[in-house]
Formats: sequence, C-alpha cells, structure tokens
Amino acid sequence: MLKHTVKHLQPYTPEKPLADLKKELGLASLVRMSANENPFGTSPEVRQAVANWDFTQSRDYPDSNASQLRRSVADQLHVASEQLVFGNGLDEVIALIARAFLEPGDEVVEPWPTFSEYRLHAEIEGARVVDVPVQPENGNFDLDAMVQTITPRTKLVWLCNPNNPTGTLMSLTALTQFMRRVPENVLVLVDEAYIEFTDDYPATSAIRLLPQFNNLVVLRTFSKIYGLANFRVGFGIFPKQLVTCLQAVRLPYNLSAIAQLSAQAALADQTFVQTTRSRVQQARRSWETFLTDMVLPHYTSQTNFQFFQAPHNQAQALKQQLLQHGFLVRDGLMPGWLRITFGTANQNQTVQQVIRTFQLNLQ
Ligand SMILES: *Cc1c(COP(=O)(O)O)cnc(C)c1O
Repeated sequence: MLKHTVKHLQPYTPEKPLADLKKELGLASLVRMSANENPFGTSPEVRQAVANWDFTQSRDYPDSNASQLRRSVADQLHVASEQLVFGNGLDEVIALIARAFLEPGDEVVEPWPTFSEYRLHAEIEGARVVDVPVQPENGNFDLDAMVQTITPRTKLVWLCNPNNPTGTLMSLTALTQFMRRVPENVLVLVDEAYIEFTDDYPATSAIRLLPQFNNLVVLRTFSKIYGLANFRVGFGIFPKQLVTCLQAVRLPYNLSAIAQLSAQAALADQTFVQTTRSRVQQARRSWETFLTDMVLPHYTSQTNFQFFQAPHNQAQALKQQLLQHGFLVRDGLMPGWLRITFGTANQNQTVQQVIRTFQLNLQ
C-alpha cells in the first residue's frame, strides 16, 4: 500500500527526552549539546509577547499569510515581502521544496556530510541524491566536483552555508563563481540556518546575490541564533516566479499565531542576537584553541558548534564518557568524529576537561 520510496524508510529517531535519559543514567544534570540550540535561551521579549497573547484567539485559524512577520522579515533583510515562504520550521520548507520540484528519476546534488533532511525528502519524492564529499583537509565544499556532478536530470543543488556538521563557511566569491557555472534550470538552495553566527555577518549572506540569479534560494530559521526551536518558524527567500506555486503547495495554516508573534518579537530584539553572537564567537575561539593545543583534527567553525575527530577515532567511547559527566553530544555524522554544540563558558570548560582526561587515559 505504501509508495515504494517510503517502504524502507526508518523514522527519524529523535533523542530520548532529556528527562528520561537523565533518570536512566542517574544524572543530577544533563546538558544537550547535540542539537545546536541556543545555550543562552530565548529573548525575554518573546516571553513577554507570548504572555500577552490574547487567549480568546485560540479558536481562530492563524493568519495564513503571516502578514506582520512577513513585513518585519522583509524589512530586516531588505528583500521583497512577496519573496518569502514561511514554514513550520525550516524543515517544512525543505520538505515543501522537495514536494514541489522533484519527480521520480530526478537528481539532487548535495555535499557530504551535510544536513540529513535534504536527502530524506528527495528520496520520498523518488529522486536520486548524489553526495559530493567535502575536501577532507579543510571540510570545504568541492564545488568543482559538484558542478561536474550536475546532469540533465539534476533539479536541485543543496549548499548548507555554513555547513552542518562541518561548521565551515563558503565565501560569496566561491558561491558566485559556482552559480555562473550552474545551468539556469537547476535550483541552488543555500541553507543559512547558522549564517547569523558568522564573524562577518551580514556580508557572508547569499541574500545579496539574489538579484543576480533567478535560480538561487536562501533559507533561514528562527531555531538557532533566535533560540526559538520549539515554536517552529523558518522561511525561504525565493525568486518571485516560483512563489505562487510554492504558496499553493504549502499547507495554509502551517504557522500558529503564537509561532508568528514569537518570531516577530525575537526579530525585534537584535540586542539578544548581538549578545548571543559575541558569546558564541568567544566560545568558538576557546574551542579552536583547545583543539589546536590537543592536536585533534577539526574544521574551522563559523557556527555555534564544533566538529572534530575524537582521540584515536574513539567517538563512541568519548560520547559515553561525556554522557557520564552530563553532556550529550552528536555522533554518527562522520566515522570517528563528534559534533558538539557550544554551551556556556563554564560548560565548554568542563567538556574540554573531560576530553583532555579522556585523551590522557588513552595514552
Ligand atoms: C537546524 C537546522 C535546520 C532546521 O531548522 P528548523 O527551523 O528548526 O526546522 C535546517 N537546516 C539546518 C542546516 C539546520 O541545522
């Protein structure tokens, strides 16, 4: 009965609820450093906005057009409000793109490793995903190889910038040169979930290239620097000629009123964003110094997480060790490597101490 592309899919296994895992391990505290959430929480302005929400609106459908949020985002990013398509998290926009563009037999090009949702949704639509490994020495995309992988069947190219899980940033010069070599009937999707964490933001964003290329899309989320993962708000900035069809495919009431007003309040509090960025930059420097001192292979991060090779490739054992100390990190993205979301300065120090001890005990 099931369509054949989904018959063999395994459901996304979210981590156990933190409370359950904590109890199971008998831990006094457990910090999740595996999901790239904001360790500094959410803007207090959001709390206020949610508290002030008129509860009698509960029975009403939300604004399908997210009009106010749309206007605020368009102003903030200097794009036309008609270019925006909102989703219940960026995850939904990724699913929407696959649903709207892909047919069985189409091809999708992506780097490897990268965010897993691109592949999942392409496969559900029956498309074939071609992985192009990142350059092993620095984690950068192999853009030449990606261009060469494009065939007449290629519909989409995914570029996560900075990339999850490598954390590396592609320059706009490199992206511009890439775009010039990509056929105009291939859509290039730049997922900027982490772009606000980059040192030179907003100069690092592909938004400024949108007027030059009719086949370029930029994707954003409120889940990371805005600390709003629970409310599920993401969006794409699309070429105008694609928007009508995407809006037709999108579910009409995909963003609750609370999600819309939370995102609006979060966007208005740029002080919170600035503070988060500078704390994350500080954490990044501390991790860079630590991993360099430890001589552990790693890529240069421009995000709120660090990807690195565990001592002697013992990623599983190190993950367990960190868990015993109350820190949950992400493995399974590249053999022998772990991805750690930055915590507070104290948490980072403790985690680094556990890694140091782990390495000493191996010698
Ligand atoms: C977290 C993340 C997303 C998903 O964000 P949501 O808005 O929470 O769905 C999309 N892309 C990348 C690369 C991410 O890391």
